[in-house]
Amino acid sequence: MDKIIYKGILFKKPNDVDNIAHFHGITQKEIRKGKIKREPCGICGELNSWGHHEYYSDTKYKIRWLCPKHHSIIHTIFRKIDNTKNCIEVYSKMLKENPKDDYAEMSVREAKHQLEYYKNAYHLTEE
Ligand SMILES: [Zn+2]
Ligand SMILES: [Zn+2]
Repeated sequence: MDKIIYKGILFKKPNDVDNIAHFHGITQKEIRKGKIKREPCGICGELNSWGHHEYYSDTKYKIRWLCPKHHSIIHTIFRKIDNTKNCIEVYSKMLKENPKDDYAEMSVREAKHQLEYYKNAYHLTEE
């Protein structure tokens, strides 16, 4: 599972539950019912925070608390990493089918370069 370090804090890849939970306001309902307690943003301490779900194991997830700004940043980083990996996969396949495809070759190279950037900038680890 992908992990990054952002501002010295370790984040795991968001769970699929995350989008569903946000969409249906599940976390908000659980807070209202008193089932879970809202905590300040784990990055900046802002009190207006959202429950953010990340992979803990294949079936379980863990709720982290993030303000709207940091929530968006964390999701954006993981989405970009996913997109980059996807590019490498797709263009590598194209290149395998047609080794003379210059565009595919350039795209693989650029995407790999981009992934290296993420590895360095966010201490990206894959398990
Ligand atoms: Zn924050
Ligand atoms: Zn989230």
